[in-house]
Parts: sequence; C-alpha cells; structure tokens
Amino acid sequence: MSKHKFQTEVSQLLQLIIHSLYSHNEIFLRELISNSSDAQDKLKYLTLTDDKYKSIDANPRIDISFEDGENKKITISDNGVGMNKDDLKENLGTIARSGTKKFVEMLSGDSNKDSNLIGQFGVGFYSCFMVAEKVEVETRRAGEQSGTHWESTGDGGYLVQETEKDVAGTRVIVHLKPEDAEAELKDYTSEQTIRSIVKKYSDFVAYPIQMEVERKEKGTDSEGRVKEDAPEKTVIRQDTLNSMKAIWMQPKDKVSDEEYKEFYKHISHDWNDPLESITAKLEGTLEAQALLFIPSKAPFDLHFQEGTNRGIQLYVNRIFIMDECRDLMPEYLRFIRG
Ligand code: ADP
Repeated sequence: MSKHKFQTEVSQLLQLIIHSLYSHNEIFLRELISNSSDAQDKLKYLTLTDDKYKSIDANPRIDISFEDGENKKITISDNGVGMNKDDLKENLGTIARSGTKKFVEMLSGDSNKDSNLIGQFGVGFYSCFMVAEKVEVETRRAGEQSGTHWESTGDGGYLVQETEKDVAGTRVIVHLKPEDAEAELKDYTSEQTIRSIVKKYSDFVAYPIQMEVERKEKGTDSEGRVKEDAPEKTVIRQDTLNSMKAIWMQPKDKVSDEEYKEFYKHISHDWNDPLESITAKLEGTLEAQALLFIPSKAPFDLHFQEGTNRGIQLYVNRIFIMDECRDLMPEYLRFIRG
C-alpha cells in the first residue's frame, strides 16, 4: 500500500467542499454518473480505433446500488475504460479539468455564492466529498490484468494499493456522512431519492443507468398469468432509471412529430401539444444544439413580473446543468420552452 498527498489545489478544494459547501450536494451523483458515461465513451472510441481493444465486447452500463443501516453507502459502477495506477494518481490527485480550475479561481469565500457555483460547475469527482466521509475507488483499465484500489477521507492524502477486480471498469463507493438537516444532507440511501436525482440530472445520459429495486408482486402461473389469489412476494428486479433519449441531439428527420410533442409535454408540464417546434444547430468555437417549443396557449402568468419561468434548460454533454437559463432567451420570449 502506498500513501500519497493531494496536489495543494486539490487539498484546498477539498477543505472547502467538506467544510463550507452544503447546498446542491445532490449533484455528487450527477458528477459520478457523468464520469462513468465519459468512461464508456472512451472505451467505445478505443474499441473502434485501436486493434488492441477490438475484441472487447462492450455492453456499456452504469449501475447504482446502495446500502442502508449503520454504514450507509452508495456505489456507482461502470464497465468503461477504467484506470491503472498511474491514471489514478494523475486523475484523482490533481486538478486535471479546466472547469474545476476555473471554479477554484472564481471562489469568493462567500459560501452561499460558492454553493451556487458548484451547482453550475460541479467539481467532478471531488464533489462526492460533500456527502462522503470516505470514498473508495476500485478500478481496472480495459486491456490490463490488475486492478487498483484508491481510498481517501479527503483530508490531505489518499492510499493506493493493488487489488483484484474481475472486470474492467470503475466502482466508486461513497461512504455517506450521517444525515444532517442543517447541512442539507439528506438520506441518499433510498430508491426514491436516487431515482429522482437521476431523472433530474442524468435522464438523457446515453447509457442505461441501472439499479436493483424491490417490488411486491403477485405470483404468476406457469403461463405467466397473474394469480389474483396468490400472496404477494417481494421480488428484486433491475430497473433502468434514465430514458436515454436526448432528442435534441438527433437530426430532425430522425425524430417523429409524436416524439417532439411528448418531449415538450415532459419538459413543460403542459398537456397541450406545442404550436411549433424549432431545432437549431450552431457550430463554431462552441457547438450547440437547440430544441425550442412555442406553447399553443400563453402561460397564465405571462404578464406577472416574476411570473413564467423562462423555460430554457441548459444541458452540457447530455447532463442537466441549469433550469431557466436566463442568458439563453430574451425576456420578451419568456414563453418559449426548450
Ligand atoms: P473530469 O471528469 O471533468 O475530467 P473529474 O475530477 O471528475 O474531472 O475526473 C478526473 C479524471 O478521472 C477524469 O478525466 C477521468 O480520466 C478519471 N475518471 C473519473 N471517474 C472515472 C471513471 N468512472 N472511469 C474512468 N475514469 C474516470
């Protein structure tokens, strides 16, 4: 086992995350899922471009499980590209991403403002220390034989050691801090909580996010018919938590009118069909896709000053970042949804 120190900037960031950032802590799940999704993208790319990885039968998925009771924990696993020992030290010991560097530069010291920032930026993997007293990472890089175990409580350093892992990919085990209403730490070890966070931030992630759920079901006979008089029993089944359909990423001719209408209703909570749907693609130094809808009826609060939420949601790489992103739509078009 070897002991390592975090890069100074990481230590500073972690101090801040652990001691002063409280709100928006649910985004830790968004950040970990997004890393798993990136890891699947990277593996897919390798299997398509590098002969060494061609034989890998990628069946990409992301799994979430949780354990209640005395030692509460949430585990997020993927069978993506994984990391070896050097990758781990490079990736989870320094600040690699430019977004996080920017975040650190923008910190004001005012924990209210900083909490808002973290909701918009996220700080990637390190976000999980908002809710964790300890984090373990078990990972094995695709195409390599041995796995690595990484562990930290966020205070200064981390431990690394070789471990056995039967499949390539990464498993992040988040040992949760005790619940604390004041610090807005809720009980994350519930199916409902996890389900609603995934739906909110990660619904359009391109890979299935799976969780085992318990359901009470009536027994069936040999032909699969439900036996009404049978006692209920608890069964465990795999549920996919996300819809995966980011229809704004698809060309207009690949999406049916029905799908656009259904999507509009989903994001606007309007039960009428939209009057019009508009797609746009912008390319340049930044790339963006827009999918906008004109409602068929004016929202009832259109003329109240603080009324009508400005309905444009902002997603980056299929991950939900912001509701009512005011910079994306002028005020006089506040009835537009998208
Ligand atoms: P970012 O994802 O924006 O680069 P993070 O701090 O979240 O920043 O992660 C740092 C790096 O750690 C990632 O770029 C990636 O190389 C690696 N990493 C994190 N999670 C995983 C994962 N589940 N599988 C493979 N690599 C990962």
